Amino acid sequence: MALVPPHGGGALKPLLLTGAALEAEKKAAAGYKKLEITTREACDCFMMGIGAFTPLDGFMGQADWKGVCADMKMANGVFWPIPITCSAGDEDGVNVGDKLALICDEFGGLIATMNVTEKYEIDKAFEAKNVFRTEDKEHPGVEKVYEQKKYNLAGPIKVLSEGGFPEEYMRPAETRALFEEKGWSQVAAFQTRNPMHRSHEHLVKIAIETLDGVLIHQILGKLKAGDIPADVRVGAINALVDNYFVKNTIITKGYPMEMRYGGPREALLHAVFRQNYGCSYLIVGRDHAGVGDYYGPFDAQKIFNEIPEGSLQITNLNIDWTFHCYKCGGMASLRTCPHGKEDRLLLSGTMVRKTLSEGGDLPAEFSRPEVVKILQAYYQSLDAAPAALERRAGLGPGRALGRGPGPAGRGCGRRAGHRRPGPSGRPARAPAGMAGPGWPGPGAAGPRGPGARRRPSPWPRRPPGYQPLRVGRRRSLPQTPKPQG
Ligand SMILES: [Zn+2]
Repeated sequence: MALVPPHGGGALKPLLLTGAALEAEKKAAAGYKKLEITTREACDCFMMGIGAFTPLDGFMGQADWKGVCADMKMANGVFWPIPITCSAGDEDGVNVGDKLALICDEFGGLIATMNVTEKYEIDKAFEAKNVFRTEDKEHPGVEKVYEQKKYNLAGPIKVLSEGGFPEEYMRPAETRALFEEKGWSQVAAFQTRNPMHRSHEHLVKIAIETLDGVLIHQILGKLKAGDIPADVRVGAINALVDNYFVKNTIITKGYPMEMRYGGPREALLHAVFRQNYGCSYLIVGRDHAGVGDYYGPFDAQKIFNEIPEGSLQITNLNIDWTFHCYKCGGMASLRTCPHGKEDRLLLSGTMVRKTLSEGGDLPAEFSRPEVVKILQAYYQSLDAAPAALERRAGLGPGRALGRGPGPAGRGCGRRAGHRRPGPSGRPARAPAGMAGPGWPGPGAAGPRGPGARRRPSPWPRRPPGYQPLRVGRRRSLPQTPKPQG
């Protein structure tokens, strides 16, 4: 069976120049007007450069932008869920007909050239409301919409750089060749911006049971404060894959996009470019690409039923929330486990971070010890300098892997210093039926201040006679975290 075709009905359309054409365009670019672009815009150039955003041939004009915001459809009728745009202000003095050199210092300077064919004012509220379903500027994706300058510039681009991403980075033509070499045609993509715990491992293994293989596909672009930086995440995921997956069922690679945290719309964008990467399925768990509580836990799954038939050739593989159940004696989901919340091991991200930063162990039922070890080392390294958490999470990929120049935690040029932490600190909402000990309710951080009582163990009570899993080494259950105060 053949691999799924690229999006839009044609061949992959990489806009990256090579060889003599690249050298000639670089030379020509020296005479072009310079425009400093953001890291998000640069990452979109890289995605177009490698053909991940096939069939786009540049930044979107007004008709495409409007159609995409309102109906997820470009002017030529091709499905597209999130606008791919590049902004400029009056101060940049760009006119239609100009040739521009697009510059982003965080990725080493010259990224692409662009023929400006259109310039239009951005209705930011319209874009935010339609794409993100909110105009709240605390939403990190919406914040970036409002940080754009006054106009969008549209026109075809030629991409001159790939940004110096680490070796995990791979182009769609290369993953397609790799799948074919392995004889794979039915491949699922697993999107991740976080280290993988047992529940993520379970999602991927469900797909492997019926498909040829899974592409664990990590985002390598900039993340919001509080997310785990790329180098740590890559190490943790490799530790999991090396120890707990059958050889030749997994390919671990990355892609050069920046998260928008757009929930359902972003899940669709993730599907579009995974199709270009040759994946026939996208695993969609709960709250895919969401942030805070802006989206319902199933919104990103539901939206695949709301788009016109034939919009995508890739299929969503919806999987419910998964967890370890002590009564089931293994990983399960709300669809397979009939037991109650008291039998399930559910930990919030907040609790996981707190435990790890205090050097505590996570239960082997929640996370593999090889993964825990890497994360503990990372969180403990932050203890000395708490500000490092924010700095590191804001890093571009080159920097995170010791490759690129550029000061940590700064946006590109004009937006430097304008980032503020998004709602990342908010605990995720506990889904219905999940309000277990792992999901702190209001005030769950525990009593504070002098006289605070010791809070009860955060881990679910084990059924009598329950034997904990043995994973490679002797393991003790984590100590109850100390009350804060
Ligand atoms: Zn159960």
